[in-house]
Amino acid sequence: MDPHIGREFDSPIYHEAVGQFDRVAKLMGLDDNIADRLRVPQKSTTVSFPFRHDNYAEVETLMGYRVQHLTTMGPTKGGIRFAPDVDLGEVAGLAMLMTWKCAIVGVPFGGAKGGVRVNPMELSRAELQRVTRRFTMEIINVIGPETDIPAPDLGTNEQVMAWLMDTYSQHVGHAVPSVVTGKPPSLGGSIARREATGRGLMFLLPAATAARALDPKEVTIAIHGFGNVGKYAAVAGHQQGAKIVAVSDISGAIYDSDGLDVDAASKWVDENRYLEGYPDADFIDGDDLFTLPVDVLVPAAIQNVITAKNANEIQAKVIIEGANNPTTLEADDILRDRDVFIVPDILANAGGVTVSYFEWVQDIQKYIWTENEIVARLREIMTRAFEDVHSIATRENVDMRSAALMKGIQKIADAKLVRGIFP
Ligand code: NAD
Repeated sequence: MDPHIGREFDSPIYHEAVGQFDRVAKLMGLDDNIADRLRVPQKSTTVSFPFRHDNYAEVETLMGYRVQHLTTMGPTKGGIRFAPDVDLGEVAGLAMLMTWKCAIVGVPFGGAKGGVRVNPMELSRAELQRVTRRFTMEIINVIGPETDIPAPDLGTNEQVMAWLMDTYSQHVGHAVPSVVTGKPPSLGGSIARREATGRGLMFLLPAATAARALDPKEVTIAIHGFGNVGKYAAVAGHQQGAKIVAVSDISGAIYDSDGLDVDAASKWVDENRYLEGYPDADFIDGDDLFTLPVDVLVPAAIQNVITAKNANEIQAKVIIEGANNPTTLEADDILRDRDVFIVPDILANAGGVTVSYFEWVQDIQKYIWTENEIVARLREIMTRAFEDVHSIATRENVDMRSAALMKGIQKIADAKLVRGIFP
């Protein structure tokens, strides 16, 4: 491949995503022509726009991105993140991971991702709304219910999705709930989307712990991140009888080897924004959470946190990846050699996009499902995807990440081949 192709996306996550892809494409003997097409996203949009702070005097220029990795399968789908260090390459790498994820759970989307380089924790509610609405206007021609459907991600939430939907709808002149998923239920959002990623992840706990002969009701779990994914993973793990001994956020981690009161910690964060100051557990450094004596580790905050630096100190026998790309390629090698069972991000956190798909189907059909229907279908899809990937791992004698990528890449490669090349 021409080494210059894709250099626009130069960033650690993009290199990680391409590195994972290359390793598995080689293992699969994937056709080089197809591999070249899949290494780079099909469409990417970079925008800059003015953002007026509440004090009126200050107008900052913000950078925003929307990258659509694969338009072969249907509309593209993926979250929008607001974070202080987002760049085009990060969004491109994450869009590629979304493509494999959608293929693994069998939802008819290609991968996309978006982001604005801004620290949402420093914004007032009015500022957050202005950033969201202006960014939506900047990308309005590349999103839509049949083209590209955003969702929440790091630093964005249901409210942000509601503003996005409202901005889009004002522009086209009528309400278009299906332009975005992860909206509040009052606007046509799925009643089970908020919990979907954490819940879906924990549906895999029994099978993942069984792979290392652990009893899911007896295990201890540490969760890095206590936002949308981390919090609901903690709730779902606790409901299954597991002991959640540590959770963290950007302020640090709380730890109690006897098990945390997850509801109390959640209430504390709702009222105080950060875990710091939580009275009923030890407060430790967020990075120290990774090396605690636990059975299961769930990274559910940001990327590249499990690295060559801490991989050898990790004591967990099972890692279930809630965050996208939490493990670097080097760390992945170390953990594989140490026989740690990793349920990779593209499988473990696919509950989010699965329920987003249900939400989109509900919105375009104007037919609302019950919570029981949603949760039962989510469980069925997640457990079947796990079984499929596990059987590929056993048959091909590879780790779960390679097996998941094999499943996703093969499906996309087959679709690309039958569609042919235009013109
Ligand atoms: P969120 O913003 O709701 O929560 C993020 C959590 O991580 C918070 O507790 C925050 O304090 C913590 N955090 C943020 N920056 C940090 C830093 N620099 N160091 C340590 N902790 C930090 O985000 P989320 O929606 O829960 O997403 C978390 C991860 O899961 C992301 O990688 C996202 O891409 C991935 N993901 C999310 C969904 C979803 O449905 N929301 C679906 C699939 C994957």
